[in-house]
Amino acid sequence: MVSFEPTEEQLMVQKTAREFAARELAPKAAERDHEGTFPRDELRKLAELGLLGVNVPDAYGGAEMGVVAYSLAVTELARACASTTVAVCVSNMAAELICTYGSEAQKQRYARAIVDGSACCGAFALSETHCGSDAAALRTTARRDGDSWVLDGSKQWITSGDHAGVLVVWARTDNQGDRGARGIAAFIVEGGSEGLHVGKHEDKLGLRGSTTVPLTFESCRIPGDAMLGNDGDGFRLAMTALDGGRIGIASQALGIGLAALDAARDYARERSAFGRPIADKQAIQWMIADSATELEAARLLTLRAAMLKQAGVPYTREASMAKLYASEAANRVCYRALQIHGGYGYTRDFPIERMSRDVRVTTIYEGTSEIQRLVIGRSLTSA
Ligand SMILES: Cc1cc2nc3c(=O)[nH]c(=O)nc-3n(C[C@H](O)[C@H](O)[C@H](O)COP(=O)(O)OP(=O)(O)OC[C@H]3O[C@@H](n4cnc5c(N)ncnc54)[C@H](O)[C@@H]3O)c2cc1C
Repeated sequence: MVSFEPTEEQLMVQKTAREFAARELAPKAAERDHEGTFPRDELRKLAELGLLGVNVPDAYGGAEMGVVAYSLAVTELARACASTTVAVCVSNMAAELICTYGSEAQKQRYARAIVDGSACCGAFALSETHCGSDAAALRTTARRDGDSWVLDGSKQWITSGDHAGVLVVWARTDNQGDRGARGIAAFIVEGGSEGLHVGKHEDKLGLRGSTTVPLTFESCRIPGDAMLGNDGDGFRLAMTALDGGRIGIASQALGIGLAALDAARDYARERSAFGRPIADKQAIQWMIADSATELEAARLLTLRAAMLKQAGVPYTREASMAKLYASEAANRVCYRALQIHGGYGYTRDFPIERMSRDVRVTTIYEGTSEIQRLVIGRSLTSA
């Protein structure tokens, strides 16, 4: 029998995340959204619980609980507050990336700082104004100058870019771009470095408690040993990180979808029309049935991708399938859940309004749905 049942340890991480989410995230999720407050204190507490480095080795301060536990934890957090969850996802992704490709000194210093919360959180700076999907077209440059690297250029859409103490930044070392994807390297940059400027917060539709900022590098001088991995390997590092990141976003979408389904079910039981609770109407039951079924499929796809990654076998296609399906399913679920709320769903008085805005970006960031289809299609058709 194929088992998708989590182990005792994984259930423990899930429970920890669920209890934290109910106690610390849910009560202020609406306020975080309305006021645009960044969850700095919450991130510190999440670090104390090991949730900023769930799949990071113990040697670098991580919880070392694996990818399945990570996915379960993200889903629980996202049920309560999608804004906080995106900062958690990016932190885990940056810390894992540093642990996979970094030198011992980089792991000890930077992965540890993300995981223990002393860096507040991590950031992943790949996209630029002119390129998101086509990341290999990036233009930020890194040039060697004596004992240092000097970064020039700009980044766009950087989650937590204004709060992160540790940023992984991609730049071209070939200057002219003549080596294409092979001319890119990844660098670790400390938040607050001289020459690193943070721009204005994006005024977003959703995830309003998360910050998304442009960054400018103006002769930003970083140490000569700041490169992560080898020169020319940056694009490969980014793609590897995004494979894992997609499991995180699938888990986030699943969490938002589950919360929307709960809200729709509760509302349908309470609200009456034509003398009966609307939950008794077949049209409403079908919406709830479709939503529950699609979320179950999303859960299984996400768990499978997580299990493959954890087993150390290739999982690129499965991560893209999970991200594609879970994000699109969660959007449908939120749409139906809002419909079930009638006019009240369109107001800020009910959390479904926030969820419907938050879920929208899950088909866009960490690779749009179109890019996921491209990854899946290529993997199925290439010889
Ligand atoms: C809230 C938020 C947070 C983000 N956080 C980060 C972050 O922390 N770090 C980071 O580096 N980036 C981040 N991003 C950027 C995000 O990853 C990009 O927005 C995304 O990859 C899409 O890139 P783009 O916006 O440039 O769209 P484009 O790449 O310009 O795409 C525009 C449209 O064309 C489609 N398209 C593009 N290429 C193809 C193709 N080959 N075939 C078919 N269709 C195609 C796309 O699917 C999309 O529909 C974030 C974005 C948002 C909105």
